Amino acid sequence: MELQKLLGTLPPTLLPKDRALIERAYEVAKRAHAGQVRASGEPYITHCVAVAQILADLHMPIPVIVAGLLHDAVEDTDLTLDEVRRDFGEEVAKLVDGVTKLAQLPRVSKEGNQPIDRNVESLRKTFLAMNDDIRVVIVKLADRLHNMRTLNHLPPEKQQRIARETLEIFAPLANRLGIWKLKSELEDLSFRYTNPEKYKEIVAMLAEHEADRERTIRRIIEELKAALTENHIEGEVSGRPKHIYSIYKKMERKGVGFHEIYDWRAVRVIVKDKPTCYYTLGVIHNLWKPIPGEFDDYIATPKDNLYQSLHTSVLYTDGRPLEVQIRTPEMHEQAEYGIAAHWRYKEGVRRDVSYEKQIQWIRRMMEWRQEVSDAQEFVDVMKRDVFQERVYCFTPRGDIFDLPAGSTPIDFAYRVHTSVGHRCRGARVNGRLVSLDYRLKTGDQVEILTAKTGGPSRDWLNPDLGLVKSASAIQKIKQYFRRQQREQTVAQGRVLLEKELKRLGVAEFSQELLARKLGYTKPEDLLYALGTGDVLGRHIAAIVLEQEQKDEGLGLPTGKETRRKTDANEITVLGTQGMLTRLATCCNPVPGDPIIGYITRGRGVTVHRQDCPNILNTREPERRLKVSWGRAERTYPVSIRITAYDRPGLMQDIATVMTNERINMSSIRSLSKGTLATIDLTMDITDIAILPRILSRVEQLPNVIEAYRPRTPPHQNADRR
Ligand code: MN
Repeated sequence: MELQKLLGTLPPTLLPKDRALIERAYEVAKRAHAGQVRASGEPYITHCVAVAQILADLHMPIPVIVAGLLHDAVEDTDLTLDEVRRDFGEEVAKLVDGVTKLAQLPRVSKEGNQPIDRNVESLRKTFLAMNDDIRVVIVKLADRLHNMRTLNHLPPEKQQRIARETLEIFAPLANRLGIWKLKSELEDLSFRYTNPEKYKEIVAMLAEHEADRERTIRRIIEELKAALTENHIEGEVSGRPKHIYSIYKKMERKGVGFHEIYDWRAVRVIVKDKPTCYYTLGVIHNLWKPIPGEFDDYIATPKDNLYQSLHTSVLYTDGRPLEVQIRTPEMHEQAEYGIAAHWRYKEGVRRDVSYEKQIQWIRRMMEWRQEVSDAQEFVDVMKRDVFQERVYCFTPRGDIFDLPAGSTPIDFAYRVHTSVGHRCRGARVNGRLVSLDYRLKTGDQVEILTAKTGGPSRDWLNPDLGLVKSASAIQKIKQYFRRQQREQTVAQGRVLLEKELKRLGVAEFSQELLARKLGYTKPEDLLYALGTGDVLGRHIAAIVLEQEQKDEGLGLPTGKETRRKTDANEITVLGTQGMLTRLATCCNPVPGDPIIGYITRGRGVTVHRQDCPNILNTREPERRLKVSWGRAERTYPVSIRITAYDRPGLMQDIATVMTNERINMSSIRSLSKGTLATIDLTMDITDIAILPRILSRVEQLPNVIEAYRPRTPPHQNADRR
């Protein structure tokens, strides 16, 4: 029976009380899950035992195996956490709680069930639940592995989603923890569902050449053993197990078909210590010709999951390549079990040095976890900083820091300390000054040159400049700007407001009124929003100008005004009370164009032309909104003044701007004083809100110094009503 097999896997030194504990956990789980069945039709307890078996095969300590038996009981049955704590102790209870929380945390994403959202969420949950105990994740990985082994009982859509999630998240996680045993099986099981054709193709090809291959491998092993004996090296030589997914990746990476690697052969040599590893390498290179560029020394530079080995490829006597790995028994254990090796047959957690190193990245993850609230952002952090190749660089004092590949001196500075990052102004790499977009390489010695005070530059966040790579540095820079003195932003907002009012020819305007109209309770909040760019000059302009019309009586309907029939769902762009509207910059609709509104997230309604491709291609048609120009057919005269260095064709250019905006000019007068020209013009516009845009367009013309609405309208327009 499965329980007996499980108990048989455990070390012979197992105490009777531990044996009893596992038997009791089995009974409790069996009773709790009584009546529940898996999709396969088997009793649910088979899953619990299978998970515990995987953990036992990893030689995890007793409490983890017990937690494996009980991992679904608190979530899926009447068993409570208190009962687990009472019957199995605090340690088991904590582990079970951690695994339970993986499934219980509220979902952040409310939109749909797209696979990416699920991925994002499960990943985040996994890390949230890790807390201080990585063993929770190992239980979760064991759980996932058994679910993958039994995936064929689920409907196809579920198979796809779970397999993809496993390949994208859980396998990399196992890899990062260095647990090759879990990683390789998770990958092969997932690959079978995500790419069944390729999977079957590779399996079939392997089977076809199986006998041939095995014969060759046996011969290679014998020859290698003989060479070792001749050189007085004691070592174990073995063939390496096939890993379908890695063969596939290799085909992809080298851009070759299966036939070119079907004869892929690999052996592993395990020798007693590090010097012997290198000695063995020499013996092998003497025996067969090494292939240039195929040697990797992961003993001198371990992988970030602490994997160590010598890798080389040689040409075997048949002229085909042979891969060889050379390592010590300790390295082998680390390679197979990764972080799990630290708990093997040991009581509790041994805080040895390599263990500390291994969990360093998890600690960093925990730090970011607190800063990153958005699930998508969290995944970006993961993808960029965790599941990625890394470089290792030194400080002048010889401290080593690891960073994502492609990192710059700024990333390094932030990695050393946040305040070093903020003040980073330059860097010396291996004694030479480098630019801040320098890409660090493993082994670089980096000295950061700092300013005494000051903060990061906004340019650092510009992805086009490539100055910062790691998500954690980006996080810290963003935070700096967020925390910057609010007053500074408010002051910037005040300057922007004054500038806008001056441009519009308005002397004074109530800040209270402006704030209220734009939905802010205090003028200061409005100024802050202006400073951050949440509110733009044209939002101010729309309100100021609308108010002005009201004050001047222009807001009242006139005989000239033509009204369109409107239905209840239609809103008007003009005079849309309390609703923030803005004209889309992609298609720049002008009054008279057929238009359509689009409800943005938190920025009111954007008005596009009906033929704007952005609107036609939107994936959320329910955000579209019928809008019309409303009272836009009414026109009123507005005078503006333009100062410019006079030049031929200037008037023509101004007229072209007006034509392009479909604006009628009722008068234009130019006054030249030496090289300086002052142009007063009056235009009939339908939408006063476009005044700021016209002013900007005119200002962009060559030689134009400024364009604004004068506070006193030019004389000939005084009688315009
Ligand atoms: Mn489970």
